[in-house]
Amino acid sequence: MPARRRWLFAGQLGSQFDDGGPVLLIEARSVFGRRPLHRAKAHLILSALRHRAAELGDRAEFHQVERYGDVVRGRTDLEVVDPTSYRARRYVRRIGATVLPSRGFVTSEADFALWAGSRGGRRLLLEDFYRSVRQRTGILMQGETPAGGEWNYDAQNRHSPPKGAVTLGLPDPWWPTEDDIDAGVRADLDRWQAAGLVRLVGADAPRRFAVTEAEANLALDDFIGSRLNDFGPFEDATLTGDWTMAHSLLSAPLNLGLLDPREVVDAVAHEYEAGRAPLASVEGFVRQIIGWRDYIWHLYWHLGEQYTTTNNALGATAPLPREFTELDFAAIEANCLSHAIEGLHEHGWAHHIQRLMVIGNWALQRGYDPAALSAWFADMFVDGTPWVMAANVIGMSQHADGGIVATKPYASGGAYIHSMSDHCGGCRFDPKVRLGEDACPFTAGYWAFLDRTEPVLASNPRLRMPYAALRRLPDRAAVVAQERQRDRL
Ligand code: FAD
Ligand code: SF4
Repeated sequence: MPARRRWLFAGQLGSQFDDGGPVLLIEARSVFGRRPLHRAKAHLILSALRHRAAELGDRAEFHQVERYGDVVRGRTDLEVVDPTSYRARRYVRRIGATVLPSRGFVTSEADFALWAGSRGGRRLLLEDFYRSVRQRTGILMQGETPAGGEWNYDAQNRHSPPKGAVTLGLPDPWWPTEDDIDAGVRADLDRWQAAGLVRLVGADAPRRFAVTEAEANLALDDFIGSRLNDFGPFEDATLTGDWTMAHSLLSAPLNLGLLDPREVVDAVAHEYEAGRAPLASVEGFVRQIIGWRDYIWHLYWHLGEQYTTTNNALGATAPLPREFTELDFAAIEANCLSHAIEGLHEHGWAHHIQRLMVIGNWALQRGYDPAALSAWFADMFVDGTPWVMAANVIGMSQHADGGIVATKPYASGGAYIHSMSDHCGGCRFDPKVRLGEDACPFTAGYWAFLDRTEPVLASNPRLRMPYAALRRLPDRAAVVAQERQRDRL
């Protein structure tokens, strides 16, 4: 019997998804025309697909068509590694492809099911999952004991940025060099946009993220060589002059399937074992991959398809403002938010604390519709993909699930942003002020958020103190009225 042809999706472009047989790659334009999309994201996916087709040469059938169905309808020779969204999983089953277990994560779906089943109804906590993966894989373990004796080095990490610093002073990250394939992608995007086939948002800037396995390995080596040691201390900090900080910039190549996360983690753990990197940074990074990334992936399947579209525990229905949908950072007065949206406009990327504490916190305070916000995150970020949105956006950032993923909302006032950034100095608002011309929209917005959600959240034991403080607030009504009338971001 002839070998089945492996249909590789855009998240499956590295060698971990390729067992050496014939391959099918499809570039379907309709996928890019569904909703407004960041230009950098469209560029990255098209460039990655075309580079993979070029690498595989005669081994790949490569089609550039309108819809997947134009190629796969009626075919009986296809196999796929189970793809990463409910929609794609339904599709590959409908066309009768042979489906292999998913890849691209440190733990399998079966591993997670076993772990979840062993919990006896207790909460599926990240910390417990992370420790179980460390124990099972032996990563950063000395026998039964975690390396260094502790599971978690957060106390040594998460510093404020160095006082007076404009940047962290680290070398410029590795950047890819664009080639003829990128030039072709750019020309196609221009043509499609002019013809109204796609609606692109954001800058047409040089490509910043890896599209081949070779490039992804260069990006990984560069992170290990120049930023890993500072990753932990500054993972929650943000500086106006340093858009990457000490982050790895690896989420896009990881989600394109170009890096095997287990190899990434092993390479990083090896730096500690070789005495070249501090344990706190290494553990902090390993936790992001075998903890957060795998955990979020498994929760997407565990929580079910409706989780992202139907949860709205805080009754948030405000539409996303134009400043978000058009990434119009110049129209935003709040300096920290403007800076985060500017970075997103330029690169299709912002680091974790900008996503959670600035953009997500803003949206939570103002009650943006969580499903619309999820779609926006998926479309505007180069690493955006449906499985990441469920627990990160609906659960952690917007608390739209009412407490399934996180026990309290990630809402905070300007004081926290002030302590972790240099944005407030250059802002027309004052993080300490909640009422009047200078009132920081995050500080005042925090109280207005607590006020609006009091009927739902006041009984949450973790919010007892904030609600007690709200009830003592002498100018509560005035702050709430002020935020209701605030018409600029
Ligand atoms: P680093 O800070 O260097 O972290 C290393 C790696 O850990 C990342 O590359 C990523 O693969 C993984 N990781 C860390 N935290 C998470 C997490 N919470 N969920 C999943 N992976 C994680 N990540 C995406 O890959 N795609 C997204 O669309 C995305 N959207 C997010 C939206 C919100 C509201 C929040 C709070 C987080 C989101 N994240 C997303 C997680 C995280 O912010 C990004 O993975 C990270 O900022 C990417 O930059 P980096 O590669 O430099 O990450
Ligand atoms: Fe952001 Fe408020 Fe600071 Fe301005 S004052 S940068 S809005 S936290």
